[in-house]
Amino acid sequence: MQKIAISGGKGGTGKSTIAILFANKFVRENKKVILVDCDVECPNDYLLLGQKLGKPQEKVYAEFPKLSKTKCQKCGLCVKTCRNNAIFQAPAKYPVFIKDLCSACGACWIVCPYKAIEPKEEEIGQIFVNQIKENYWLVTGSAKPGLEETGPVVTQIKKFVLDLVKKTKPDFALFDTAPGTHCPVISAILDCDLAFCVTEPTPMGAHDLNLILDLCQKLKVPVKVILNQADLGDKRKIFPIVKKFKTKIEEEIPYSKKIVEAYSKGKLLHFELVKL
Ligand code: SF4
Ligand code: SF4
Repeated sequence: MQKIAISGGKGGTGKSTIAILFANKFVRENKKVILVDCDVECPNDYLLLGQKLGKPQEKVYAEFPKLSKTKCQKCGLCVKTCRNNAIFQAPAKYPVFIKDLCSACGACWIVCPYKAIEPKEEEIGQIFVNQIKENYWLVTGSAKPGLEETGPVVTQIKKFVLDLVKKTKPDFALFDTAPGTHCPVISAILDCDLAFCVTEPTPMGAHDLNLILDLCQKLKVPVKVILNQADLGDKRKIFPIVKKFKTKIEEEIPYSKKIVEAYSKGKLLHFELVKL
């Protein structure tokens, strides 16, 4: 099985559309496919596939720190340990945990010498499964509204997908990531065999492409670039970045009013994408 991420750094470059087009193409070629929507703050692949999210197949939980003031000695070790700066401590006061910054990594309760921090489990998201066709599954992750740190939701989705892979034995698992280069994107790209980075020939597209290619290089995931709306903007902004990371533009998709109109109606036009 090949694990392929479809990412792009910048939002709105068409990565979800491309992820679905890849999935549809493989299914037409009689391959078994699991498409995974890892854009957990705003999943929309199910809408483009004309599906509804029913009951969640699984709920996602994470453990967050809970302080026991009777045990805490205000030593400050937890504050120094937290790499997310999610713990604040005023002089001679108890530490305060800022949940919006917490990634539920567990480091603080591991280091606390007085066992004053206990992990407390909370629901942070849900996982939905739609079987689109006999050999085609869509797994959708959805983070609890307002959850700031969504990386753990994506990590759990990937574990869920690995279990589904054992049962269904697909040829491809496609991970449609969130935009950006933050934790949920890292979790989605990690361990993939290949990443397609979808970009556009604009200054912002070029800037964010540089960031996502750098991330993929650090994660040791090979990349191919797809240039969407290739005839708008200035392609010359993209060339030096692609060259810097020793990859190439695998496919150029021209701007098409028909594609935009179809997308706005929640439909997709079929067109062939690159051969893998
Ligand atoms: S490490 Fe433990 S004892 Fe020290 S401040 Fe943090 S919670 Fe309190
Ligand atoms: S669980 Fe991790 S991120 Fe959260 S407060 Fe503790 S050390 Fe910081």
